[in-house]
Amino acid sequence: MRTYRYLIVGGGLTADAACKGIRERDSDGSIGVVADEAFPPYARPPLTKALWKGDDEDTIWCGTADLGVDLRLGRTVVSLDLPARQATDDAGETYAYERLLLASGGRPRRLPFGGGEVIYFRTLADYRHLRALTDGAARFLVIGGGFIGSEIAAALAMNGFPVTIVFPEPGLGVRIFPAELSAFVTDYYRDKGVEVLADTSVTGIERTRGVTRVSTKDGRTLETDVVIAGIGIEPRTELAVAAGLPVEDGIIVDERARVHGHEHVFAAGDVARFLAAALDKTMRVEHEDHAKSHGRLAGINMAGAEESYDHLPFFYSDLFDLGYEAVGELDPRQETLADWEEEHRKGVVYYLDAARGLIAARQPIEASRLGEPVA
Ligand code: NAP
Repeated sequence: MRTYRYLIVGGGLTADAACKGIRERDSDGSIGVVADEAFPPYARPPLTKALWKGDDEDTIWCGTADLGVDLRLGRTVVSLDLPARQATDDAGETYAYERLLLASGGRPRRLPFGGGEVIYFRTLADYRHLRALTDGAARFLVIGGGFIGSEIAAALAMNGFPVTIVFPEPGLGVRIFPAELSAFVTDYYRDKGVEVLADTSVTGIERTRGVTRVSTKDGRTLETDVVIAGIGIEPRTELAVAAGLPVEDGIIVDERARVHGHEHVFAAGDVARFLAAALDKTMRVEHEDHAKSHGRLAGINMAGAEESYDHLPFFYSDLFDLGYEAVGELDPRQETLADWEEEHRKGVVYYLDAARGLIAARQPIEASRLGEPVA
């Protein structure tokens, strides 16, 4: 049995940030990371962005092993014994710990058809698989108009490949952008040569004689070589559920990333439902910045700090040469106010209660006051 002061389940950005957080306060406490991916922690955003713009794969590594962390890769923790403070992996190896962090992230949602024909794009292995296919394949079809779908469709088109993107919403980014901005972005994709099939969904995928045929709800049959899907993720909570931890679309943690009622157990990143004090509600966030800042918070608190999460996560995306950064909750059903320096290209869209300073200030604000500095 291996014994660690800190045991982390999961090997993504959250786990790496937690290791760094631990090392801020504890320079030599033993840390074990058990993760089912074959690779040490790496940055995921470049997989749909920078690596398609020429960045080298070497730029993605987090350097977790340099912190003296014992990385147990290619293994999945299958059970927890919380009273004994032990975890067991799928190879039958047991780990004893003083503090446990669940940073198991999420797994891609899958379609009920298509089997092995679909790349559910999420990991470095998926990136390498798709890269390898770009050597021989001519046509790509992307299912889903969320972050993965919109970014990977742009990445492939920028590299000269014919791309079709299919999604159920009326436009790209319709759940986060005001309608006219969503329409602009959708037209931008079309101008860049992407075939955009909005307002429909994929109903079947079949591969015969080397060609994949994708059928859609509105009666089309599309021929393609490669199908990629980004239709959301589900938090990997099964370990927590089996161990009796509180789970409700995510493992419920307090503002210190500690699981309710469990002094020695923490959860962070995609898998954790945390209290966002500034918004007065619990939320689960699936973005890089949150993974890093929540992971760090869990790490320092595992190592004895008692800090609260007062960080309001931001996220960003790159779509061709367009890009944005966002903070707070983007819900276009809220009143929005666009302040364009250059229409739809350079400016700020305010969601009336969503700017970081405004939220933290906890003051009512009206559209007419948005140009004023925030105290
Ligand atoms: P996502 O952003 O949640 O988008 C999923 C999209 O797929 C939604 O538009 C969803 O529509 C649609 N969808 C769901 N079921 C579908 C179906 N059966 N057929 C067609 N479309 C369907 O998830 P994602 O793009 O898969 O990304 C995965 C995770 O990685 C997310 O957590 C995301 O935040 C993260 N990520 C973030 C970034 C970034 O921050 N820039 C970049 C890449 C990935 P409905 O909403 O109608 O279900």
